[in-house]
Amino acid sequence: MVRVARAMRCRIRVEGIVQGVGFRPFVYALAHRYGLAGAVGNDSAGVLVEVEGPAAAVAEFRSALVRQAPPLAVIDRVSTSVLPPRGEAGFTIAASQAGGARQTLVSPDVATCEDCLRELFDPGDRRYRYPFVNCTNCGPRYTIIRDLPYDRAATTMADFTMCPDCAEEYADPADRRFHAQPVCCPACGPSLRLTGRDGGPADVDTDPLRATAELLRAGLVVAVKGLGGYHLAADAASETAVTALRTRKHREEKPFAVMAPDLAAARELARIGEEEARLLGSPSRPIVLVRRHPTAPLASGVAPGNRYVGLMLPYTPLHHLLAAEFGRAFVLTSGNVSDEPIAYQDAEAASRLAGIADAFLVHDRPIHTRVDDSVVRVFAGSPLPVRRSRGYAPQPIRLPRPADRPVLGCGAELKSTFCLARGGYAFVSPHIGDLENYETLRSYAEGIAHLGRLLEIEPRIVAYDLHPEYLSTKYALDLPDVELVGVQHHHAHIASCLADNGESGPVIGVAFDGLGYGTDDTIWGGEFLVADLLEATRFGCFAPVPMPGGTAAIRQPWRMAAAYLRAAYPEGVPDGLAVVGRHAGLWEQVLTVADSGLNSPLTSSAGRLFDAVAALVGVRDEISYEGQAAIELEQLADPSATDGYRARFAESPGERFQVTGADLVRAAADDVLAEIPVATVAARFHRGVAAAVVDGATRVREATGLATVALSGGVFQNVLLLEPTMAALQRRGFAVLTHHQVPPNDGGISLGQAAVAAARQHR
Ligand code: ZN
Ligand code: ZN
Ligand code: FE
Repeated sequence: MVRVARAMRCRIRVEGIVQGVGFRPFVYALAHRYGLAGAVGNDSAGVLVEVEGPAAAVAEFRSALVRQAPPLAVIDRVSTSVLPPRGEAGFTIAASQAGGARQTLVSPDVATCEDCLRELFDPGDRRYRYPFVNCTNCGPRYTIIRDLPYDRAATTMADFTMCPDCAEEYADPADRRFHAQPVCCPACGPSLRLTGRDGGPADVDTDPLRATAELLRAGLVVAVKGLGGYHLAADAASETAVTALRTRKHREEKPFAVMAPDLAAARELARIGEEEARLLGSPSRPIVLVRRHPTAPLASGVAPGNRYVGLMLPYTPLHHLLAAEFGRAFVLTSGNVSDEPIAYQDAEAASRLAGIADAFLVHDRPIHTRVDDSVVRVFAGSPLPVRRSRGYAPQPIRLPRPADRPVLGCGAELKSTFCLARGGYAFVSPHIGDLENYETLRSYAEGIAHLGRLLEIEPRIVAYDLHPEYLSTKYALDLPDVELVGVQHHHAHIASCLADNGESGPVIGVAFDGLGYGTDDTIWGGEFLVADLLEATRFGCFAPVPMPGGTAAIRQPWRMAAAYLRAAYPEGVPDGLAVVGRHAGLWEQVLTVADSGLNSPLTSSAGRLFDAVAALVGVRDEISYEGQAAIELEQLADPSATDGYRARFAESPGERFQVTGADLVRAAADDVLAEIPVATVAARFHRGVAAAVVDGATRVREATGLATVALSGGVFQNVLLLEPTMAALQRRGFAVLTHHQVPPNDGGISLGQAAVAAARQHR
């Protein structure tokens, strides 16, 4: 007698963000694999599946549905109900049901998948060596989407009509290109072209990729049109090429990113741990900051004064082909002059980069939205984002408290982003850049309008920084008919860290950064707060010192050394310090300015304290990019040193305590005079700041009973500070929150603002 397995029919509802991520084709393929009948469709809440077949197969299907879901899906809830079997055969994909408040998702761009890569290098495949191969699981997304609904007509692929072969793949639910909007091939899709500096055809070999590799080998600089903008490429091993690139770009010291052909090649350049390797190969393919080998074949100009190098692996088919042709690492840095936003439109790129690039490798698929490469480093085995952009944005982040009314967080000024939030999700924009000029402000305002339209979020509540001069603040205050919520900068940092970890607080918030506007109209940046998503109270801070000359003191760290040294030695600064000698002509004058209070605001900024020590030990008197002095101080410090300086704590009338940062400067100056090696001084200083964090947190715990510390602010990008701080806090029994999804720097501020504005709706 034949036993027939008992048939079962289930209705499975998957809620969350499961539309526009290839979920229905995935369900279709899964049902086929388990031999189940039924249908998949979607409605306003998510995806609805009905499956029928042997009970065991249905159960396995149900579990694989969650375990193997497409990487971009965000599943909130899965509910299952049992229905009477219908004896149905076959599985179908039902048409979408319109209507309702659909939770839409705009996918980030995804690096070329393994399947597409195999085709790319398979001489028998019709897409062999085709630089625009993609599928449902990979390819351009956010950068090419003009409007919704997300289908080809609303992308920059609209002008490329699918050939019959591509159209067949697109329409076949069993094909891995089913509904892949940017699907194309050599017969119907975009094409590549190499042009000379003037836009005319290049006088070279006919294959543009081979020719580009040839130019790179000859030491020339080639502009390469990528996914979210133009890059500049040069041979990473060539001193001449890298120097030429630096000079023409007017980028004096900021490190260049390097693209290695594959992981094996990357390992020849740098020490790559398990998590670093995972990130390098992940679908987001960020630039990963890794420790370079001292003998790595990289020109000295790639990352001057830096023990680390930013590496990435190819993330588009074009990169894969170019890397294969060139065969070794090349610099791939954003196509711009110094601090301008990256060029992304063809005509604009041709004129702006004409003075930098010797040739242009271009194609005819327009880029709709500019997106920079993301940057990440690894801390304690987890990613610590430095810049969240391509491959990540605008992937949603869950909010600890939902935004019942839609929210916009406007961000700060430097490393600016914005954040749109509705319901349980926050969507942080890609990195926009420093909001200091009209061009960036325009792309910021356009970005808010564009992403708002795509996500169907029209903000009713707008959260902004308290700094009256930030363009993001002015933008917020000019918006008509919205409810405004001012969020103090360092509260936003801590709220960002809370949201990043799915927490609501209250916590001990330690926010260390360059500067942020305080509630007392002074400049903060070395703050111990007691904070939750609703409010923050200042509990302690670094004792304020003047910033002689205001912004001049940010550009010239030696001015901070002058202010701090005087505070450190009330009896008079000892003779023999080189930093005083280097600026003898201006030293007294700068201190007089500081005394007059004229254009010399007081600041508790931890970033400025790092600047002072960097100048004191001779690392850097003047900077050419934000945070440079502190970054170089970290790079130079001896990581094996274990002893540190100690700062005293003073009672203060306003807050509960002030940390005497000048004690750390005095200890460092004494060591410098005693000719202790600079690497040791820098390490002892880092340890001293870590100890101050622990002592401060302990005081807050004694007063409040709170035992969780959230570490945020750009200073905590510094792994040499973060590492001992976290270890010591944990030894003393604290739970520690750090950043994993958004950067601790001001790129994370917009998320914090949105999280605060969302939480306050529940008050
Ligand atoms: Zn693919
Ligand atoms: Zn085609
Ligand atoms: Fe900040």
